[in-house]
Amino acid sequence: MDIIATMSGRKSVRTVAFPPQGSDLMPGQKPDEHCAVIGIIGREQIFPNIVASLKALQHRGQESAGIATYDGSSINLKKGMGLVGEVFQEKDGVLPQSLSGIVGIGHTRYSTQGSKSLENAGPFVISTSVGYMALSHNGEITNAEKLGEELKKRGASFVTTSDTEVMLVEIAKDIAEFGIPRGFRNAMGRLAGAYSASIMVNDRLFAMRDPYGIRPLVLGEVDGSYMISSESCAIDSLGGRLIRDVKPGELVELSSEGITSHFVYAARRTAHCMFEYVYFARPDSVIETREVFEIRKRIGQKLADEHPVDADVVIPVPDSGRTQALGYSEASGIPYDEGLIKNRYSQRTFIMPSQRTRTNAVKLKLNPIRSVVEGKRIVLVDDSIVRGNTIKHIVSLLKKFGAAQVHVRVGCPPILYPCYFGVDMKTRDQFLATGKTIEEIRKTIGADSLGYISIGKLTESLSFSQDQLCLGCLNGAYPAYVPGKNYELQAALEGY
Ligand code: SF4
Repeated sequence: MDIIATMSGRKSVRTVAFPPQGSDLMPGQKPDEHCAVIGIIGREQIFPNIVASLKALQHRGQESAGIATYDGSSINLKKGMGLVGEVFQEKDGVLPQSLSGIVGIGHTRYSTQGSKSLENAGPFVISTSVGYMALSHNGEITNAEKLGEELKKRGASFVTTSDTEVMLVEIAKDIAEFGIPRGFRNAMGRLAGAYSASIMVNDRLFAMRDPYGIRPLVLGEVDGSYMISSESCAIDSLGGRLIRDVKPGELVELSSEGITSHFVYAARRTAHCMFEYVYFARPDSVIETREVFEIRKRIGQKLADEHPVDADVVIPVPDSGRTQALGYSEASGIPYDEGLIKNRYSQRTFIMPSQRTRTNAVKLKLNPIRSVVEGKRIVLVDDSIVRGNTIKHIVSLLKKFGAAQVHVRVGCPPILYPCYFGVDMKTRDQFLATGKTIEEIRKTIGADSLGYISIGKLTESLSFSQDQLCLGCLNGAYPAYVPGKNYELQAALEGY
């Protein structure tokens, strides 16, 4: 199923003549998303490049994909459930369907089961008193419920349960009142949480990142076009060049002439998500001038220093533990080998929406290589352990194939607290480590020994100090407002 819509002055899917009219954000609703955003502006049709760049960011969300373009008088929108290649299907290597325009934004989305629906898929498009606005968002607005209630009191309406819609209507209201860029600045002062966004206002294209820089957002140039992307790998995939990161708290405007920074509404510190470096981002991406591959290798090296073990072979949990395993092997001198083969047509289990889907997928996707495993003392390296289903299954599989010992090493400290900034880790009982000692975790997964990298060594590997990172899911100290939680850093924004 998909939606194709053209919005012009005569015909629109949704109109917000500010103040907007009627509908509901469900009380207590907390939309959960981990997504990718794209925005491109140039002198030629940009649709094929948006499709290609969304494919490069497919790892950030596999449930839905969408694109909105502006053609000079109308907004053209197509979104659907499924992978980018399913929503925008090629025929004989050519995209048969095109959305016209030299400016556009794109989105891929991952959500939890409860909010999985086409209405909540991006990009969001509205018609306002200042024209058409479209928004793709990666992150989570932690005060969306409160803002939604305030907006409703002013007559606003919402047709979805998504925090992205609240964000868009809030920005639209402020732009209608204060213009550009002041309206954006005003909205930024009211939005809490994590947001990296690409935004179209008619034919103008903007990139906006929250003051802590929690989610990544970069700017690039491709053959005279300028682009916004969640990760630099999408810029590379088009043969372009990375210009720079959008700064925390920055509003940037892109045009066919280049990029203009309107303002930086920064906090006194940053809070980059450590999990982007550990797991989410593609290893070939560069975030905040750090290559993810290099960082993961360094994590593996420090893990070997912190948790050495006598063993015959280092094998990764494919694919996410591969780079850390290389680093572990390099630092320990224990040879690296591929002991597990992955069915490349199965999806990443973490970003699958339901526990049952995830459990079944683990069984389908990995198989050991007997000659590498049999009789060996194995160091099994994974990037992180969240729910623990995968690692437990792999340890038992390796033993079934004759491994003499399996020593598990993990490139992320135990995940103990929920994430409120766009990663689907919402309740503590989802986590393997909750309420357990390391020895209890070891027993649960059936390993001969278990070692997690420490928070100190992890942050060293990332070349950040601890107060430049979000470590909320590791230590419970959240950088921004979370309803009902202590948030240690929000005061840093006061006074702006
Ligand atoms: S709580 Fe964890 S996953 Fe969420 S933003 Fe912070 S570091 Fe990232």
